[in-house]
Amino acid sequence: MPLPGLDRRGVLFVLSSPSGAGKSTIARMLLAADKDIDLSVSVTTRPMRPGEVDGRDYHFVDVPTFKDMVGDGELMEWAHVFDHRYGTPRAPVEAMLAAGRDVLFDIDWQGAQQLYQQAGGDVVRVFILPPSVHELERRLLSRGTDDKNVVEGRMARANSEISHWDGYDYVLINDDVESCFAQVCHILIAERLRRSRQTGLIGFVRKLMTPKTA
Ligand code: 5GP
Repeated sequence: MPLPGLDRRGVLFVLSSPSGAGKSTIARMLLAADKDIDLSVSVTTRPMRPGEVDGRDYHFVDVPTFKDMVGDGELMEWAHVFDHRYGTPRAPVEAMLAAGRDVLFDIDWQGAQQLYQQAGGDVVRVFILPPSVHELERRLLSRGTDDKNVVEGRMARANSEISHWDGYDYVLINDDVESCFAQVCHILIAERLRRSRQTGLIGFVRKLMTPKTA
């Protein structure tokens, strides 16, 4: 880990996958295990699912409100996904970075692309693949939160989402959630150690190299 107390640039850590590949589980595990990263809570126009909490899982808004946010430049990126709009509010991300935190984004490939265009070197993009189409379908059905038509729609979209795998810095196969999670943690640790992100190193090294005066 970088030395505590040394200034560093936060990581904008993007997790994407076709729906059902396990990304949300891994995001939750990461947020619970790592005290230096916070979730960017997206805005969406899709209806709330049972068990979801407004402000925790998403900020649920209507279409006019979403359009106003886009018009006012309040979103860092936004996209249509499954017939609904999703977007990343800018202000909380900037506040988290200013507070020296890393930010986790659970967004699709369109969001990853837009974020990268804006914030380039600060962005680390991780794509999670399911081990097989069969397993993907099984996971989507066992969720039981969407009706069968929605699941079929998502299966149909999985192919197109998977086709964007090469727009990512890291690609993981989630065969086993614990080992996939461990890989995600290793990536984050290594990315935090990049010299370019350890902005406090210059001062630290300067002090190390200052000759002792007698
Ligand atoms: P769900 O409706 O299952 O929560 O999410 C559907 C998809 O929308 C997921 O792939 C999720 O990563 C993506 N998504 C969620 N929030 C955002 C966002 O703010 N921007 C973009 N581009 N995609 C998002």
